[in-house]
Amino acid sequence: MLKQVTVCAALFAGAAICSLLAQLALSWPAGTAAQHRCAEVAVDVAAPSPRDRALACSAAKHGLSLLKSCGISLRRHLHLEIMKELRHPTGLPALGFFDAKHERALIAQFEDVSSLVQGTPYAVLPLRELYRSLIIHEVVHAVMHQNLRRKALSHAAYEYPAYVLQIASFPATVRDRFLQTAGRSTHHTDFLISDSVLLMDPFVFAARAYQHFRASANGSDHLVALLEDTAAFILRHP
Ligand SMILES: [Zn+2]
Repeated sequence: MLKQVTVCAALFAGAAICSLLAQLALSWPAGTAAQHRCAEVAVDVAAPSPRDRALACSAAKHGLSLLKSCGISLRRHLHLEIMKELRHPTGLPALGFFDAKHERALIAQFEDVSSLVQGTPYAVLPLRELYRSLIIHEVVHAVMHQNLRRKALSHAAYEYPAYVLQIASFPATVRDRFLQTAGRSTHHTDFLISDSVLLMDPFVFAARAYQHFRASANGSDHLVALLEDTAAFILRHP
């Protein structure tokens, strides 16, 4: 059966982090695991184990609170699927991606993450904190999608909010470690936020996006501007 699916942006070390880059007609199986409603948030989770489900609900709640602090709220139920040996429709192993057509976020199960991130800056982070952040990354994509007034015209615009709030979700010590490992960054305010940086090194992009967000007087305004695709800080033609 041919369906519309999302395509991942950031491919690295055989793994993938989601991105709504393009829509292709590819064969994609529908999810089969039973959905369970999270206790405190309007999120349904299908997961291979109760532990995965509890972790997903907790991380989703955290992600929704970060979005709410920026004035961006859930508009309808969110659907998360935690999957064994998750593969992107391109065939590559994936950490997660958002399927816009079916409005569901797919995330690799906890046990699979360690091997997927080997050789990347994620590998130095505590696995549980990293895993929560990966779920939050996809939750942000899903909620931004629900609130979009104009479709993002660049991959960088699509990924900026997901990486910003993913990195923001880390405890301070974990975030510092990630920024030191991945950042290779400048403290100048003219950060380069562009598709080319994202595609060349998603970790550098993530670090720059977070630092750009934090350096702003009101970083939340950037996320709201992205919903209307009016964010001036995205370099459209690098
Ligand atoms: Zn993403």
